[in-house]
Amino acid sequence: MSTFRFRAIEKAASRVAVKVEELGRKSLIFGDNVFNDKSMRQFLTPEAYQAVKNAQFGIKIDRKLADYIALGMKEWALSKGVTHYTHWFQPLTGITAEKHDAFFETQFDGDPVEKFNGSQLVQQEPDASSFPNGGIRNTFEARGYTAWDPTSPAFIFGSTLCIPTVFISYTGEALDNKTPLLKALNAIDIAATEVARYFDKNVKKVTPTLGWEQEYFLVDSALAASRPDILTTGRTLLGHTAAKGQQLDDHYFGSIPSRVLNYMHDLENNCILLGIPVKTRHNEVAPNQFELAPIFEETNLAVDHNSLLMDVMKKVAEKHHFKVLFHEKPFKGVNGSGKHNNWSLATDTGVNLLSPSKTPKSNLQFLTFFINTIKAVNDNEELLRSSIASASNDHRLGANEAPPAIMSMFIGQQLTKVLEELKVVTDGKLSPEEKTDLKLNVVGKIPDVLLDNTDRNRTSPFAFTGNKWEFRAVGSTANCAMPMTVLNTIVAKQLKDFKLEVDHLIEKEGLKKDEAIFNVLREYIKQSERILFEGDGYSEEWEMEAEKRGLSNNKNTPDALKIKIAPQSIAIFEEMEVMTKIEIEARYEIELEEYVKRLQIEGRVLGDIARNHVIPTAVRYQNMVIENVKGLKEIFGEKKFKDVASEQLVLIEKISHHIAQISTKVTEMTNERKTANNIEDVEEQAKAYCNKIKPYFDIIRYHSDKLEMMVDNELWTLTKYRELLFTN
Ligand code: ADP
Ligand code: MG
Repeated sequence: MSTFRFRAIEKAASRVAVKVEELGRKSLIFGDNVFNDKSMRQFLTPEAYQAVKNAQFGIKIDRKLADYIALGMKEWALSKGVTHYTHWFQPLTGITAEKHDAFFETQFDGDPVEKFNGSQLVQQEPDASSFPNGGIRNTFEARGYTAWDPTSPAFIFGSTLCIPTVFISYTGEALDNKTPLLKALNAIDIAATEVARYFDKNVKKVTPTLGWEQEYFLVDSALAASRPDILTTGRTLLGHTAAKGQQLDDHYFGSIPSRVLNYMHDLENNCILLGIPVKTRHNEVAPNQFELAPIFEETNLAVDHNSLLMDVMKKVAEKHHFKVLFHEKPFKGVNGSGKHNNWSLATDTGVNLLSPSKTPKSNLQFLTFFINTIKAVNDNEELLRSSIASASNDHRLGANEAPPAIMSMFIGQQLTKVLEELKVVTDGKLSPEEKTDLKLNVVGKIPDVLLDNTDRNRTSPFAFTGNKWEFRAVGSTANCAMPMTVLNTIVAKQLKDFKLEVDHLIEKEGLKKDEAIFNVLREYIKQSERILFEGDGYSEEWEMEAEKRGLSNNKNTPDALKIKIAPQSIAIFEEMEVMTKIEIEARYEIELEEYVKRLQIEGRVLGDIARNHVIPTAVRYQNMVIENVKGLKEIFGEKKFKDVASEQLVLIEKISHHIAQISTKVTEMTNERKTANNIEDVEEQAKAYCNKIKPYFDIIRYHSDKLEMMVDNELWTLTKYRELLFTN
């Protein structure tokens, strides 16, 4: 084994478990580092406290009160040993961004003080000229600014007070992920509240809820550092699969290794202090793969918490000498990682609108929201697919282990039956018998049928799981804001249309409310049937069937993103006031650029490793074999040595073949990159990277992995899969 690789492994093996401070009962420390209700009451005047509460309902904060809020926030932070503050935001690429400023200042007379006022809290101008803006914000013009989002509480991380903010250009366009999300949440609140009021006049607000499940890999940091591909791209570009993979399924729900457990412990304590309600942790299917899930929350907060969690995970991992891999497919041949987004709608009266209950009336409400979601996804399946497109998620979607690139919905046998029964509801007015039958035998029976509705289909990208929808195709690196913005926008639009149709039937056709609802729902079921699929989503038959049904199957990011700028998509976003055409087009461009950059980096790193590690190592080994053959010739003589050295001769030839292939393909790939880099149009450029450059990755990898199996283990410089996946 090369000394380089050996040292990395030795270092990993010698790690001692880091002792984690036991913090005892988590409920006692939950949210200690959050400027939550409890600390606000303690540190704010009643007027200032009320102003924050009002702001959460969209009421503007008075300038004077902002100063008081800032003062209280500062005092709270200082009491916890905090020295700096930052406006924390979610730019369009990367996960989060922050720029730290000290509270410390000197007055005009030189006296030192800790200062923080209302304007510093409410608005900041980060030096953010290098954040992507897709041409919206000319770098030479005015910069964008960050503005406080009072719906997500400030928190302390390390010695910094972090204030969640939106990031906007001076001309008003959103430059971040949070702004459109907040607008989408507002849109669905308005639309869903109107519909919920058909069933309960007391409903004043509907809040979408999100419970994400974060999957990730943990690799020893020394081993990760020995792999240039992991360090720069977050995944392995080369590496033969280990003899043992996940075929025994012995990792899934197996016992968690103690070093990992220590990490999780430490991580969870950090999360609890930050008010992230982490709940479950377990091993995932692949070796060294794990999952963490919190209790669900209001969507804006849940999105912030997921972004924060990813930051915290990386920082805590450093302490435990781990590197966290969030990439959707860090290792070939073993399962990738996703981030299931569990989604539902909750009313301010405490009702989950996607939860069936005992009375027919509230079940009609359940069916209304359930079927409207189906219709929304059916009508916008391609847009939903685009919301989860990324270079890294391309490795996962449709790769036989994760949901395919085709969007479909799984509802289970029982609910399928209910929809079948609703499909034949009479047109127009219903007879009293029909009404009774619907109420007692169809709608009334839902809670019972759901109780034993346990057949979960793991191959579905969007599944109903009893009282929520689970969007499973989201990638593990994703910011949940993107899929949540699209999902909430399309459902909002759908509910708005539904309300118009029902009102029309009531006012113009004289139908009773429930008759009108049944009539509209019946039509929706008929119109949305193609999106419902209960079978094996991984199968080839489904691909063919989906094509017949007219469902999209965009397997790569450039294809998947196109729909974002289609007129019908722009129309929805503008109608629901979530994004303007300019914002949508800017985002489209940024996402394509991001795609190009990722592939460009991967191509470069792959070329480097192939030329600097793989080929030289193979040549060295080949020379050893040549020496061996020469020796055999000396001993056995010209005639006999060919028999004795036959294996070696073949090996020498094979090594030459693979080296030649790698060398040629790397050169070809580099030339293709040069051509692509000169393409002006980013759409064309992304296509070139996808179709002309990316295919080389697999070919180069194939030959390198062959060499890995031939070359003396002692010489191979790159840490192997068995070491990356089975050390911890
Ligand atoms: P799995 O079997 O896929 O791990 P679970 O049923 O354990 O799924 O998923 C639980 C997840 O669903 C948790 O993250 C939880 O917070 C979330 N969840 C539960 N109820 C809701 C809800 N009403 N809205 C949003 N998310 C929810
Ligand atoms: Mg799940």
